[in-house]
Amino acid sequence: MSHPKRKTRRDFLKVSVLSASVLSTGALSAFSSQEKRPLVVSTWRNTDANNAAWNVLSKNGRALDAVEQGARVPEANPKDTSVGYGGLPDREGLVTLDACIMDEKSNCGSVAFVQGYKHPISIARAVMEKTPHVMLVGKGAEQFAAAQGFKKEKLLTKESEKAWKEWLKKSEYKPYHNPGQHDTIGILAQDADGNLCGACTTSGMAFKMHGRVGDSPIIGAGLYVDGEVGAATATGVGEEMIRIAGSHTIVELMRHGRSPQQACEEAIKRLIEKRGEEKAKELSVAFLALNIKGKVGAYSTNDVFEYTLTTPDQMHSVIRSESYF
Ligand code: ASP
Repeated sequence: MSHPKRKTRRDFLKVSVLSASVLSTGALSAFSSQEKRPLVVSTWRNTDANNAAWNVLSKNGRALDAVEQGARVPEANPKDTSVGYGGLPDREGLVTLDACIMDEKSNCGSVAFVQGYKHPISIARAVMEKTPHVMLVGKGAEQFAAAQGFKKEKLLTKESEKAWKEWLKKSEYKPYHNPGQHDTIGILAQDADGNLCGACTTSGMAFKMHGRVGDSPIIGAGLYVDGEVGAATATGVGEEMIRIAGSHTIVELMRHGRSPQQACEEAIKRLIEKRGEEKAKELSVAFLALNIKGKVGAYSTNDVFEYTLTTPDQMHSVIRSESYF
């Protein structure tokens, strides 16, 4: 397979640091050998989410609570148009949400194609903890949410409705390359006791077909955690992650000795090999991984992906990922 000249890590390591104290060590320590606990890492520029997770972790809380609390932040933010309240609707104008959560013991819960509930991540957690099942979808998930006391709400904001009406004028169905519309949050954490957990939540692709579900609520595609090995999550064109069971693939690669960075790169390359470089260039896909030693890796198809890392030494550093193209 021909490969464009690969950019080096140095070329890519553009760090935006929110705390002056971390300027000198910032991104580089994301790749150092000894990572400190606790730690939280999330896709994209999700500093508020990391902060909420950090509030749990820094008080000796569980990684599971941390990832849930972190995921709830963009879910509640009407300005975040790709997660929860304010998420862009499908092509019928309906906001449909997907989410999943997984703990260090491989307990997991998921909901997909849920309407009218702002916090699918918490419904997913309830599926995990209060049912014998892993996944509930559509009306069934909504009935379950109502029975659990979740509040039904209108999720389509005026801004998102306006964007949809604008889209309707051409109704151009282009689910592929549009990095601006891929802002799913995948969030991975390791608590002070070493437990690894993850969560992933999204409104999916903007103006998707009604009923379309991507990778984000699919255990093994948008999220996977093995408490003995590591965790991985994904963002971007969900169909591609499902095709290679991306997050599970990355955890398996780590199990067989790859670093989180190597595992993310191998998964992206596998995806590109399957699609061919021409097609893959149009696909925005990114993976983020964390191993049991607290090492972080990230890799994406194109040069748009960034992630947010919080450790005891670096508060919410936004780090640019390396990419294939
Ligand atoms: N992965 C999400 C999906 O395919 C989209 C995204 O990351 O924005 O539904």
